[in-house]
Amino acid sequence: MVDIPYRRELEFSYGTVAQLAPGIRRVIANNPSPFTFHGTGTYILGSGRVAVIDPGPNDADHIDAILNALGDEEVSHILVTHTHMDHSPGCRLLQAKTGAPTYAYGPHGAGKVEQGVQVEEGGDMDFQPDHLVKHGDIIRGADWTVECVYTPGHTSNHLCFALLEQKALFTGDHVMGWSTSIISPPDGDMAAYMDSLHLLLERDDQVYWPTHGPSIIDPKTHVQAYIDHRLDRERQILLCIDQGTHQIRDMVPLMYKDTPEFMYPAAARSVLAAIENLVQKEQVREEGEGPAMDKAYHLA
Ligand SMILES: [Zn+2]
Repeated sequence: MVDIPYRRELEFSYGTVAQLAPGIRRVIANNPSPFTFHGTGTYILGSGRVAVIDPGPNDADHIDAILNALGDEEVSHILVTHTHMDHSPGCRLLQAKTGAPTYAYGPHGAGKVEQGVQVEEGGDMDFQPDHLVKHGDIIRGADWTVECVYTPGHTSNHLCFALLEQKALFTGDHVMGWSTSIISPPDGDMAAYMDSLHLLLERDDQVYWPTHGPSIIDPKTHVQAYIDHRLDRERQILLCIDQGTHQIRDMVPLMYKDTPEFMYPAAARSVLAAIENLVQKEQVREEGEGPAMDKAYHLA
């Protein structure tokens, strides 16, 4: 198996702002979990008239902490990487206090709806961006410039934001230092995710700032390890099937030996995403009706 060069050390305290680099500050929300690590890191770009990336969960204390950090400064833009419940619901609270408009790829499921697939489960279904942005769009603020980088996969509407002044990429949940990303169909899509990882290899960002956990200071090595890890998972699935394990629920304990059992349902979603990709590539075929967890998978 590939070793991903994880970075997990992070010194911070909830409710206080940290200056991370010129023009980059962060306040971490108090919503730690096995999925959010210490919690949602909300980034503040620029000074005076600032952009806020991912206001986080529906948590008034967190929004107050952001506003306290800003004092007399104004929020001119709210940027949203994607519409999971730990990222976008805080927009409504922050917008109520600042009037700043939101910028995002689209509502939850937007990327799948474009392909004719309706996504109804999970996500912040109430979020409607004020401004739709697409890949390559440039958003200019008072003393910052952001390029939008469309990176579907974790969700179909996932964006990374590049702060051009710092060659820094805010990677949301696309690439994280502390963990791999969960790809959960139907909105999550492994083929799209792999394409979005390869897209980052072609860029020259110097540092990544994920929503959860510390920065990634060797971006390309990290992304390549992420890619290799997913290819390892594909090989493991093919091996499972070859050795007579045909259902996802039976593959998970074999593939995730180091993962605590309460994470198995999430792991099963990622296995499903990988299998969907293998079916699409005609390396695996599915048998049976109904939910994917009841299907049997065979080598094609
Ligand atoms: Zn997410």
